[in-house]
Amino acid sequence: MSELEDSKKKIVVVGGGISGLSAAYFLGEAFRHDPKFEIKLFEGDSSTGGVIRTTKKEGFLLEHGPDSIVSIKPWAVELCRKLGIESELIDTMAENRHSYIVYKGNLTPIPNGMYMLAPTSLKSLAFSPIFSLKGRLRMALEPLISRRANTEDESLASFVVRRLGREALERLAQPMAAGVYMCDPWKLSLKATFPQFLQMEQEHGSIIKALGKMFNGNSVRGPRYSLFKSFRGGIEYLTKTLTDKITQQNCVLNKTATRLDYNSNSKKWNLTFNDKSIYESDAVCLAVPAWKAAELLRSINARLASELETIRYSSAVVVNMAFKSEDIDHRLDAMGMVIPKIEKRSMVACTFCTSKFEGRAPDKKVLLRAFLGGDFNPDAFEKKDTELVQEVLTDLKKLLKIKGSPIFYDVTRHSKVMPCYEIGHLEKVERIKNLQCRIAGLYLTGNAYEGVGIPDCIHTSQKTSESIISSLTDIQYQSLKSFS
Ligand SMILES: Cc1cc2nc3c(=O)[nH]c(=O)nc-3n(C[C@H](O)[C@H](O)[C@H](O)COP(=O)(O)OP(=O)(O)OC[C@H]3O[C@@H](n4cnc5c(N)ncnc54)[C@H](O)[C@@H]3O)c2cc1C
Repeated sequence: MSELEDSKKKIVVVGGGISGLSAAYFLGEAFRHDPKFEIKLFEGDSSTGGVIRTTKKEGFLLEHGPDSIVSIKPWAVELCRKLGIESELIDTMAENRHSYIVYKGNLTPIPNGMYMLAPTSLKSLAFSPIFSLKGRLRMALEPLISRRANTEDESLASFVVRRLGREALERLAQPMAAGVYMCDPWKLSLKATFPQFLQMEQEHGSIIKALGKMFNGNSVRGPRYSLFKSFRGGIEYLTKTLTDKITQQNCVLNKTATRLDYNSNSKKWNLTFNDKSIYESDAVCLAVPAWKAAELLRSINARLASELETIRYSSAVVVNMAFKSEDIDHRLDAMGMVIPKIEKRSMVACTFCTSKFEGRAPDKKVLLRAFLGGDFNPDAFEKKDTELVQEVLTDLKKLLKIKGSPIFYDVTRHSKVMPCYEIGHLEKVERIKNLQCRIAGLYLTGNAYEGVGIPDCIHTSQKTSESIISSLTDIQYQSLKSFS
């Protein structure tokens, strides 16, 4: 081995989803001109991207996981700029920038003046068709309800019921949150998911008053769809571009890490893979789900592994369905629909792909994408494709007045991929960070910690790679402190 090879500082990233790819990219850029550093990414699957996957079939463009990034969280767009692909981002179709919510079996446009979990004014409540009169009257009392003195974390559901009443939870907050977190709102941490609402309560004593000031009477309607972006060729273009930048040589596929050891004499990490090969490195960044990181870290630090293990994950199912336009009688003039749990349907939400982004289907054809699973339909993951498709189709036929059968369908299962940020999540992440930072050369990133969206994952990985860079360039490698 040459002297340079011998003195090289090796950094390993485990997991090639958006988190691992971004971490490897940021590290690669930082050490681009320094041959003393080598970065390798190991991915267990036969391709990178993790849950991000786009395919083409019969002229349709199918998204099997996420379909967009939101630009209000700037980190994904900033990364696109660095990669030179920002100009290739496409916008949602302007004429369809609203969505439906299912109310008593019918698609009802999300009324003007609703922002995420709450109305932005009492006026916007007055004629809202998604709440009963009783529900609206209860919500109208919100400005009179005093702020909670105790600032300990509470569930999203408890916050919404306390301030706006049960109907606001069941008809608005639950379906809006489910589209992102797929988690029971009675378990979801308010502080970790919608901290801005807590802040509104603390600062203004009322979320309706705070939203009124924020929007100053301007119209707002559900999610602001002008902020959502994708690529003509689908969202996978981002992970493919990242993979190309990292280079094939540094991105090793079909390598599942099965064991992690630390050699306190050499101060090196040893990763063992499914093919029994071992890779030695100076630093390891685990960009895998928290429960997988826990498995790898059990023998290194049992306390850290136990904390990681308590981050509960849920599974998701995505069903893409292609139709002839003439077979759907309902207008598809929106991005899609969300479905409250009390409507008792198989799906959490359905995207009208052909109304959201251009180029998703051939002329006179329609692509729909249904989401199932999470805490709302945990059995979905276990069901056979035919059974799932039948359930979805039965619902879609009623809701969208579909006459014919799909041209084709495609079912994608994502096993234990979505972390649930349960009450106390922020404190848990703090404990995890405290334990992790006492282990020299070990780093964690991924959607388990500081946000589940693609931009959040990129941001978390950027911060993690900055910690790696500063610790390796310092070369203040202290001996490993006692782990447990
Ligand atoms: C159905 C669905 C729709 C979504 N929609 C959106 C959306 O529209 N917009 C948005 O911003 N976000 C969306 N999200 C969330 C977002 O896509 C994810 O949170 C994010 O992509 C997770 O990236 P990750 O790299 O942290 O994890 P993952 O994508 O899960 O990647 C982890 C990787 O690690 C690999 N791996 C695991 N164990 C090992 C091992 N032992 N050795 C080697 N490799 C290993 C896996 O194979 C995988 O490739 C969606 C998520 C889902 C599931």
